[in-house]
Amino acid sequence: MSQAPPIAAIATPPGRGGIGIVRVSGRDLAPLIDGMTGRALPPRVATRVVFRDGHGAAIDDGIALHFPAPHSYTGEDVVEWHGHGGVAVMRLLLARCVELGARLAEPGEFTKRAFLNGKLDLAQAESVADVIEASTATAVRAAARSLTGEFSREVNALRDALVELRMYAEATLDFPDEDIELLHEGDVAQRLGAIRERLARLLARARGGALLRTGMTIVLVGAPNVGKSSLLNRLVGEDAAIVTPIPGTTRDTIERQIEIGGVPLTVMDTAGLRHTDDEVERHGIARTRAAIGRADLALVLVDARDDERRPAADAATAELSPTLPRIVVHNKADLAFAAPHVARYPAKLDEPDRTVADDADVTHVWLCALTGEGVPLLEGEMLRIAGASHGVEDAFFARARHLAALGESSAHLERAAEQLRYGNATLELFAEELRVSQAAFSAITGEFTADDLLGEIFSRFCIGK
Ligand code: GDP
Repeated sequence: MSQAPPIAAIATPPGRGGIGIVRVSGRDLAPLIDGMTGRALPPRVATRVVFRDGHGAAIDDGIALHFPAPHSYTGEDVVEWHGHGGVAVMRLLLARCVELGARLAEPGEFTKRAFLNGKLDLAQAESVADVIEASTATAVRAAARSLTGEFSREVNALRDALVELRMYAEATLDFPDEDIELLHEGDVAQRLGAIRERLARLLARARGGALLRTGMTIVLVGAPNVGKSSLLNRLVGEDAAIVTPIPGTTRDTIERQIEIGGVPLTVMDTAGLRHTDDEVERHGIARTRAAIGRADLALVLVDARDDERRPAADAATAELSPTLPRIVVHNKADLAFAAPHVARYPAKLDEPDRTVADDADVTHVWLCALTGEGVPLLEGEMLRIAGASHGVEDAFFARARHLAALGESSAHLERAAEQLRYGNATLELFAEELRVSQAAFSAITGEFTADDLLGEIFSRFCIGK
């Protein structure tokens, strides 16, 4: 249990509302409770009280809740003062708490105390902020899975399996002559394989969560009149961009937030890359270049009737941003009498100076933006490139820190597997890889975590959480 002084904060957002809550956490809050209400509070019962200032004058009339340690959010004594939700009244209640010995809480300090008192592990503590900040329903559910410990349980199960394997491997260290044989005899390789498979699944779910957190930015590129606005409208499902048969109407970049398979996407429609003398349109083209610079994926639209495998717009996009993933969309498939379908071609077709790096395949999709036929094919390809082809419905709302730790763990298990595969390994090296891998797991849940990392994690919380 921490010895820290009581901390207090307004837990509800600033502004006017029916109810506002001031929360206090500390080792022994009996004097503070008495000073505020003139009475003791029964545990975990909503009690009607008058909150009073130092002269006994009423500040507000409300409800008090007392959660005695250790059965509280922080593991310490916690009280909540539920008053009326006004800025001034909340400030008076908070000031009274400070008068009675509490100090103002820092951002995330309640959750930090909960972590330090073993109420939550680090991954759960981080997900508290994630639930609050989640912007889509899928993201809330992903964060809630981490908050309720599903992510931590999976991480801990993997860690336990590793510990067991390490114990087995290290036990055989006592028999140095037979060590490698022992490793081969036992089901070590099989067990290691099972751990690696499970880790790969966890990593995929965590990557899905990272995608939910950051979303993806998509840019539509293509000559005027090729159907960019029509496709944007199809993806958005509303008349977001004006569709006209006159080339060059989409002069500004139009941005829309959409959700495909639960993944938040920002789609930018652009003026295209056509060379032009029109001042206004030239301005739009500059924006197209800027949009390409910001995007995670380009949809390069061409007319299906042109039957191009290496359209000029695709080459132009690749030139502007060589590493940007692209999908070539052959729109107006109806006019070309082509059925909606997907094909993959090498990026640089039939060019004598092709290098290995140029060989990456580019996905081509034939569709009809006018009727929407083939659009689901495109959406599937977009999710595949985003790394979410299996959907993000079961994702864990992982942070970069978690992904890095899982990746590191995975790399060391890979090396451990190599040690087994090539018979020239030493048992010491094998055991060492397992040890480092396990340490990476432990960093996720905060079993071993540096103080400065804790400071950084909790400082990003809002006050009162
Ligand atoms: P943008 O200039 O690239 O934004 O192109 P628009 O979306 O404004 O489309 C230009 C014209 O092509 C409009 O008349 C659309 O109705 C038409 N169009 C767009 N997609 C299709 C399609 O898949 N099939 C057919 N037949 N016409 C289309």
